[in-house]
Amino acid sequence: MTNKTTTGNNYWFIFHNDQLLLEKKNGNYQIPFASEAPITENINTSILNVLLENNQNKTYGISRPKKIPPQYEWIGLRASYDYISLESYKTAGKAFEILHWDKNSRFCPACGAPMKQKSDITKQCPACGKELYPSISTAILVLIRKKDSILLVHAHNFKGTFNSLVAGFLETGESLEECVAREVIEETGLKIKNITYFGSQPWPYPSGLMVGFIADYQEGEIQLQKEELSSGAFYTRDNLPELPRKLSLARKMIDWWIEQTDTEIK
Ligand SMILES: [Zn+2]
Repeated sequence: MTNKTTTGNNYWFIFHNDQLLLEKKNGNYQIPFASEAPITENINTSILNVLLENNQNKTYGISRPKKIPPQYEWIGLRASYDYISLESYKTAGKAFEILHWDKNSRFCPACGAPMKQKSDITKQCPACGKELYPSISTAILVLIRKKDSILLVHAHNFKGTFNSLVAGFLETGESLEECVAREVIEETGLKIKNITYFGSQPWPYPSGLMVGFIADYQEGEIQLQKEELSSGAFYTRDNLPELPRKLSLARKMIDWWIEQTDTEIK
């Protein structure tokens, strides 16, 4: 790996599984910032650079939580959103994805030889020359409007009781818009139209990209795919169920729609 010589301090993104090490300072939480790695026992990954503009971010994993000094605390990566700045949360997500890639690309998928680090985000097989980069799983989200309401569903795999947007993974040979239409018909039996791009968000659980779309209901009755969804219905603005947390793109899209409706009413 290329270890750039850095003078001065680094932000250290240290993970035990999905737990991120945070430092408490004056009642606030932050990413440890120091010249040397704060904990050096039981490191079970390479120490990798997390390339961003400031070029001062390093990450590694440790195999089991040692007794840590009292100024540190383990916080789940998702929960860290509530404790640290948005910038730090985003960098932590990138660090987590890089570590996930490092752990899952130890051997060449073509010939089985141990891979060698070539750059911060490249590994190369010394035997056959195959190169590997961090791979990303792309998933779509779609907010479906029907008059003054939107479709919200609850999927069995949601971590909580909230309702959210129809979502699904992109398949090979498919455009994002085709994926949106397919997922909606598969999961709800509805036909939609006017599929337009909204925005995207890295989703480091463990290595995803969420791509959000807005669409309008065209025709059909809701017929839920029971293996995936436990409920689904159209909700008006004053009748919304529990929504996803603020950190998600789904919530950003729902909030956008609520504001739109607000503006139209006024
Ligand atoms: Zn190989």
